[in-house]
Amino acid sequence: MPFEVNCPFLRQLSPVIDLHTHTTASDGASTPSLLVQEALSAGLSALAVTDHDTFDGSAAAAPVARQAGLDFLGGIELSTRFRNNGQPQGPSIHLLGYFPQGEPTAEFRTWVRELQASRQDRNARMMERLRALGLDVTLEELGALSSGIPGRPHFARLLRAKGYVPDYESAFREYLGESGRAYVPRKSAEVGEAIRRIRAAGGVPSLAHPVRLARFGARFGEFIDRMKEAGLGAIEVYHSEHSEQDVERFRSLARDHGLLATGGSDYHGDAKPEVRLGMGSRACCPIPGVIFDALRDSVRA
Ligand code: AMP
Ligand code: ZN
Ligand code: FE
Ligand code: FE
Repeated sequence: MPFEVNCPFLRQLSPVIDLHTHTTASDGASTPSLLVQEALSAGLSALAVTDHDTFDGSAAAAPVARQAGLDFLGGIELSTRFRNNGQPQGPSIHLLGYFPQGEPTAEFRTWVRELQASRQDRNARMMERLRALGLDVTLEELGALSSGIPGRPHFARLLRAKGYVPDYESAFREYLGESGRAYVPRKSAEVGEAIRRIRAAGGVPSLAHPVRLARFGARFGEFIDRMKEAGLGAIEVYHSEHSEQDVERFRSLARDHGLLATGGSDYHGDAKPEVRLGMGSRACCPIPGVIFDALRDSVRA
């Protein structure tokens, strides 16, 4: 594992990065170019854009970031599940894919477009359910809230804007969450397949916000082993939902499994104003620049 700065004084002097951010191409509130400006204002030295199911945000941010002298990595976030006998099983597993060598392959991009199509199909079906429940909402209105392919966060914003729910959380509780009245599951990629495809496209797959999976207790170790077998390359050690203890725990876990550490805030701009760029934990931990160097060098070697 690369050397990491633990002394708080040295940490202040070392570069801070963020490898997990969202833009208006998915459910973030900042456009790709605004995000780059925000990264510069936050003093970051490196940035990756990891929108859900699309490279559009990453592709738009890349030239702006490079022009401004920021180290930049193209990326994506995919929602996956394990499958058993063809049936989705277990919790949703978010994978980050990083492409330090440049553009992912055309084959991978085509596959990502198939995932987008399943999202659009799901949106149409959720909209039908909402309308059947008597809510006056349309796909056109939903589309107007997004410059990419809308997801459930856009549904939540629409329901709030039209006064059907008092706030974002209620939209999920009543309509959009797994127990909600308009919920339709998405066809999600199988985790092993997604890992192998990211690898085959020249990328490094990293397990996003592992703290969410760690809640599954004894099964967590099994999840990690199965993903490692498929070719997982890294674990997101730093994340805004991690406590300081989580950071230490996932750092050890990565080391013990021979995986790289990645880190990102999961920034969504004003859509989640409590999350700050470059902060890798609720309590502490600017995300150290050595992580970026190790990730980039891992595929060069
Ligand atoms: P989608 O990818 O369209 O299924 O939407 C998933 C996104 O919806 C997640 O990344 C969260 O940002 C948000 N989300 C999912 N469940 C909830 C919930 N119960 N409360 C608030 N936000 C949620
Ligand atoms: Zn998101
Ligand atoms: Fe995620
Ligand atoms: Fe994310």
